[in-house]
Amino acid sequence: MLELRNITAGYGNIQVLHNIDIVINRGEIITLIGANGAGKSTTLMAVSGIVPVRSGKVIFEGEPIHRLPPEKLVAKGICQVPEGRHIFPALTVQENLDMGAFLRNDSDGIKEDLEYVFSLFPILADRRGQDGGTLSGGEQQMLAMSRALMARPKLLLLDEPSMGLAPLIIKQIFEIVKKINKEQNTTIFLVEQNANQALHIADRGYVIENGDITISDTAENLLKNQDIQKAYLGI
Ligand code: ATP
Repeated sequence: MLELRNITAGYGNIQVLHNIDIVINRGEIITLIGANGAGKSTTLMAVSGIVPVRSGKVIFEGEPIHRLPPEKLVAKGICQVPEGRHIFPALTVQENLDMGAFLRNDSDGIKEDLEYVFSLFPILADRRGQDGGTLSGGEQQMLAMSRALMARPKLLLLDEPSMGLAPLIIKQIFEIVKKINKEQNTTIFLVEQNANQALHIADRGYVIENGDITISDTAENLLKNQDIQKAYLGI
Protein backbone atom coordinates (compact mmCIF):
# COMPACT_ATOMS: atom_id res chain seq x y z
CA MET A 1 0.00 0.00 0.00
CA LEU A 2 2.79 2.41 0.95
CA GLU A 3 6.41 2.32 -0.13
CA LEU A 4 9.19 4.64 0.94
CA ARG A 5 12.02 4.20 -1.55
CA ASN A 6 15.40 5.67 -0.77
CA ILE A 7 13.99 8.70 1.01
CA THR A 8 16.24 11.53 2.10
CA ALA A 9 14.84 14.54 3.97
CA GLY A 10 15.89 17.15 6.48
CA TYR A 11 15.68 20.72 7.69
CA GLY A 12 17.82 23.51 6.19
CA ASN A 13 21.41 22.30 5.99
CA ILE A 14 20.76 19.28 8.16
CA GLN A 15 20.00 15.97 6.50
CA VAL A 16 18.00 13.87 8.94
CA LEU A 17 16.90 10.89 6.84
CA HIS A 18 19.39 8.94 4.74
CA ASN A 19 17.97 6.46 2.23
CA ILE A 20 14.94 5.23 4.14
CA ASP A 21 13.24 2.14 2.70
CA ILE A 22 9.97 1.02 4.24
CA VAL A 23 7.14 -1.09 2.82
CA ILE A 24 3.68 -1.24 4.37
CA ASN A 25 1.08 -3.72 3.12
CA ARG A 26 -2.66 -3.13 3.28
CA GLY A 27 -4.12 -4.08 6.65
CA GLU A 28 -0.82 -4.15 8.52
CA ILE A 29 0.23 -2.36 11.69
CA ILE A 30 3.83 -1.29 11.15
CA THR A 31 5.84 0.37 13.87
CA LEU A 32 8.93 2.51 13.54
CA ILE A 33 10.97 2.52 16.70
CA GLY A 34 14.08 4.44 17.61
CA ALA A 35 15.72 6.74 20.14
CA ASN A 36 15.03 10.43 20.66
CA GLY A 37 15.96 12.40 17.57
CA ALA A 38 16.56 9.31 15.38
CA GLY A 39 14.19 10.64 12.71
CA LYS A 40 10.88 8.89 13.47
CA SER A 41 8.66 11.98 13.27
CA THR A 42 10.53 13.23 10.22
CA THR A 43 9.82 9.93 8.45
CA LEU A 44 6.11 10.22 9.21
CA MET A 45 6.03 13.85 8.08
CA ALA A 46 7.78 12.88 4.83
CA VAL A 47 4.81 10.56 4.19
CA SER A 48 2.15 13.10 5.12
CA GLY A 49 3.76 15.84 3.03
CA ILE A 50 4.67 18.14 5.93
CA VAL A 51 8.43 17.69 5.45
CA PRO A 52 9.55 17.80 1.80
CA VAL A 53 11.24 14.72 0.40
CA ARG A 54 14.63 15.69 -1.06
CA SER A 55 15.25 12.51 -3.02
CA GLY A 56 13.60 9.14 -3.36
CA LYS A 57 9.93 8.32 -3.74
CA VAL A 58 6.87 7.79 -1.62
CA ILE A 59 4.41 5.52 -3.44
CA PHE A 60 0.82 5.11 -2.18
CA GLU A 61 -1.44 2.59 -3.90
CA GLY A 62 0.95 2.55 -6.85
CA GLU A 63 1.09 6.32 -7.30
CA PRO A 64 3.96 8.71 -6.38
CA ILE A 65 2.69 11.11 -3.70
CA HIS A 66 5.83 12.86 -2.46
CA ARG A 67 5.12 16.05 -4.41
CA LEU A 68 1.53 16.38 -3.21
CA PRO A 69 0.48 18.84 -0.47
CA PRO A 70 -0.92 17.43 2.81
CA GLU A 71 -4.59 18.25 1.97
CA LYS A 72 -4.38 16.19 -1.24
CA LEU A 73 -3.02 13.30 0.79
CA VAL A 74 -5.96 13.48 3.19
CA ALA A 75 -8.27 13.24 0.17
CA LYS A 76 -6.36 10.12 -0.93
CA GLY A 77 -6.94 8.52 2.48
CA ILE A 78 -3.78 9.32 4.44
CA CYS A 79 -4.30 10.98 7.82
CA GLN A 80 -1.75 11.85 10.46
CA VAL A 81 -2.28 12.19 14.19
CA PRO A 82 0.67 14.43 15.04
CA GLU A 83 2.89 14.23 18.09
CA GLY A 84 1.40 16.51 20.76
CA ARG A 85 -2.11 15.94 19.34
CA HIS A 86 -2.73 19.48 18.00
CA ILE A 87 -6.46 19.45 18.51
CA PHE A 88 -8.29 22.79 18.20
CA PRO A 89 -8.41 23.94 21.85
CA ALA A 90 -11.07 26.63 21.40
CA LEU A 91 -13.44 24.34 19.48
CA THR A 92 -15.70 21.83 21.19
CA VAL A 93 -15.16 18.10 20.94
CA GLN A 94 -17.98 17.92 18.38
CA GLU A 95 -16.51 20.77 16.32
CA ASN A 96 -13.07 19.13 16.37
CA LEU A 97 -14.67 15.96 15.03
CA ASP A 98 -16.57 17.92 12.37
CA MET A 99 -13.23 19.36 11.21
CA GLY A 100 -11.97 15.81 10.63
CA ALA A 101 -14.81 15.22 8.17
CA PHE A 102 -14.48 18.54 6.33
CA LEU A 103 -13.63 16.98 2.97
CA ARG A 104 -16.65 14.66 3.06
CA ASN A 105 -20.24 15.24 2.07
CA ASP A 106 -21.71 11.78 2.70
CA SER A 107 -23.80 12.75 5.73
CA ASP A 108 -24.92 9.16 6.45
CA GLY A 109 -21.32 7.94 6.44
CA ILE A 110 -20.24 10.84 8.67
CA LYS A 111 -23.01 10.02 11.15
CA GLU A 112 -21.99 6.36 11.15
CA ASP A 113 -18.34 7.25 11.78
CA LEU A 114 -19.29 9.64 14.56
CA GLU A 115 -21.18 6.82 16.27
CA TYR A 116 -18.17 4.56 15.74
CA VAL A 117 -15.68 6.97 17.39
CA PHE A 118 -18.09 7.51 20.29
CA SER A 119 -18.29 3.73 20.70
CA LEU A 120 -14.49 3.57 20.83
CA PHE A 121 -14.22 6.53 23.22
CA PRO A 122 -17.51 6.98 25.12
CA ILE A 123 -15.95 9.76 27.20
CA LEU A 124 -15.89 11.93 24.06
CA ALA A 125 -19.64 11.53 23.67
CA ASP A 126 -20.08 12.72 27.28
CA ARG A 127 -17.86 15.71 26.55
CA ARG A 128 -18.99 16.61 23.06
CA GLY A 129 -19.96 20.16 24.06
CA GLN A 130 -16.75 20.81 26.02
CA ASP A 131 -13.83 22.80 24.58
CA GLY A 132 -10.99 20.57 23.34
CA GLY A 133 -8.43 22.56 25.32
CA THR A 134 -10.07 21.64 28.62
CA LEU A 135 -9.70 17.87 28.05
CA SER A 136 -7.05 15.79 29.84
CA GLY A 137 -3.97 14.65 27.86
CA GLY A 138 -5.44 11.18 27.36
CA GLU A 139 -8.78 12.59 26.22
CA GLN A 140 -7.00 14.92 23.80
CA GLN A 141 -5.18 11.92 22.32
CA MET A 142 -8.54 10.16 21.94
CA LEU A 143 -9.96 13.25 20.27
CA ALA A 144 -6.99 13.60 17.91
CA MET A 145 -7.33 9.95 16.85
CA SER A 146 -11.10 10.30 16.48
CA ARG A 147 -10.75 13.46 14.40
CA ALA A 148 -8.44 11.56 12.04
CA LEU A 149 -10.90 8.65 11.88
CA MET A 150 -13.66 11.07 10.84
CA ALA A 151 -11.79 11.42 7.52
CA ARG A 152 -12.23 7.62 7.12
CA PRO A 153 -8.52 7.09 6.37
CA LYS A 154 -7.11 4.07 4.57
CA LEU A 155 -3.74 4.72 6.17
CA LEU A 156 -3.48 6.21 9.66
CA LEU A 157 -0.15 7.73 10.71
CA LEU A 158 0.24 7.86 14.48
CA ASP A 159 3.10 9.86 16.00
CA GLU A 160 3.87 8.86 19.60
CA PRO A 161 0.29 8.38 20.78
CA SER A 162 1.55 7.28 24.22
CA MET A 163 3.57 10.42 24.90
CA GLY A 164 3.01 11.89 28.36
CA LEU A 165 0.13 9.56 29.24
CA ALA A 166 -0.42 7.37 32.31
CA PRO A 167 0.23 3.61 31.85
CA LEU A 168 -3.44 2.65 32.06
CA ILE A 169 -4.44 5.16 29.37
CA ILE A 170 -1.51 4.05 27.18
CA LYS A 171 -2.76 0.45 27.39
CA GLN A 172 -6.25 1.58 26.41
CA ILE A 173 -4.97 3.66 23.47
CA PHE A 174 -2.90 0.76 22.09
CA GLU A 175 -5.83 -1.66 22.42
CA ILE A 176 -7.98 0.77 20.47
CA VAL A 177 -5.34 1.16 17.74
CA LYS A 178 -5.49 -2.63 17.30
CA LYS A 179 -9.29 -2.55 17.32
CA ILE A 180 -9.43 0.15 14.61
CA ASN A 181 -7.02 -1.88 12.50
CA LYS A 182 -9.15 -5.03 12.84
CA GLU A 183 -12.64 -3.54 12.64
CA GLN A 184 -12.07 -0.86 9.99
CA ASN A 185 -9.24 -2.60 8.14
CA THR A 186 -7.27 0.65 8.56
CA THR A 187 -3.57 0.26 7.82
CA ILE A 188 -1.49 1.79 10.60
CA PHE A 189 1.99 3.31 10.63
CA LEU A 190 2.88 3.84 14.27
CA VAL A 191 5.90 5.80 15.44
CA GLU A 192 6.73 5.12 19.07
CA GLN A 193 9.37 5.46 21.72
CA ASN A 194 7.37 2.97 23.75
CA ALA A 195 8.77 0.09 21.70
CA ASN A 196 7.45 -2.64 23.97
CA GLN A 197 3.79 -1.65 23.67
CA ALA A 198 4.13 -0.84 19.97
CA LEU A 199 5.70 -4.21 19.10
CA HIS A 200 2.96 -6.02 21.02
CA ILE A 201 0.28 -4.73 18.64
CA ALA A 202 2.35 -4.49 15.43
CA ASP A 203 2.77 -7.07 12.68
CA ARG A 204 6.25 -5.86 11.71
CA GLY A 205 8.68 -3.21 12.83
CA TYR A 206 11.55 -1.09 11.57
CA VAL A 207 14.34 0.34 13.69
CA ILE A 208 15.71 3.76 12.81
CA GLU A 209 19.11 4.96 14.06
CA ASN A 210 20.49 8.36 13.09
CA GLY A 211 18.21 8.55 10.07
CA ASP A 212 18.97 5.05 8.74
CA ILE A 213 16.84 1.92 8.89
CA THR A 214 19.12 -0.60 10.60
CA ILE A 215 16.75 -3.52 11.29
CA SER A 216 13.45 -4.68 9.87
CA ASP A 217 11.65 -7.83 11.03
CA THR A 218 8.40 -9.24 12.33
CA ALA A 219 7.31 -7.75 15.64
CA GLU A 220 7.58 -11.21 17.17
CA ASN A 221 11.25 -11.55 16.17
CA LEU A 222 12.08 -7.99 17.22
CA LEU A 223 10.68 -8.67 20.69
CA LYS A 224 13.00 -11.70 20.93
CA ASN A 225 16.05 -9.91 19.49
CA GLN A 226 18.63 -9.35 22.24
CA ASP A 227 20.03 -6.14 20.72
CA ILE A 228 16.51 -4.70 20.57
CA GLN A 229 15.79 -5.88 24.09
CA LYS A 230 18.91 -4.09 25.38
CA ALA A 231 18.53 -0.89 23.35
CA TYR A 232 14.79 -0.35 23.31
CA LEU A 233 12.96 -2.68 25.68
CA GLY A 234 14.92 -2.07 28.86
CA ILE A 235 15.61 -5.80 29.33
P1 ATP B 1 11.53 12.28 19.15
O1 ATP B 1 11.08 10.98 19.64
O2 ATP B 1 12.39 13.02 20.11
O3 ATP B 1 10.43 13.11 18.55
P2 ATP B 1 12.30 11.50 16.48
O4 ATP B 1 12.94 10.18 16.25
O5 ATP B 1 10.86 11.62 16.14
O6 ATP B 1 12.54 11.93 17.96
P3 ATP B 1 12.70 13.75 14.75
O7 ATP B 1 11.70 14.59 15.46
O8 ATP B 1 12.36 13.18 13.43
O9 ATP B 1 13.16 12.55 15.68
O10 ATP B 1 14.04 14.59 14.66
C1 ATP B 1 15.20 14.12 13.97
C2 ATP B 1 16.27 15.21 13.98
O11 ATP B 1 15.79 16.34 13.25
C3 ATP B 1 16.61 15.70 15.37
O12 ATP B 1 17.99 15.89 15.43
C4 ATP B 1 15.88 17.04 15.47
O13 ATP B 1 16.58 17.93 16.30
C5 ATP B 1 15.88 17.52 14.04
N1 ATP B 1 14.70 18.35 13.76
C6 ATP B 1 13.40 18.00 13.94
N2 ATP B 1 12.57 18.99 13.57
C7 ATP B 1 13.36 20.01 13.15
C8 ATP B 1 13.10 21.33 12.64
N3 ATP B 1 11.86 21.77 12.47
N4 ATP B 1 14.18 22.09 12.32
C9 ATP B 1 15.44 21.62 12.46
N5 ATP B 1 15.75 20.39 12.92
C10 ATP B 1 14.72 19.60 13.27
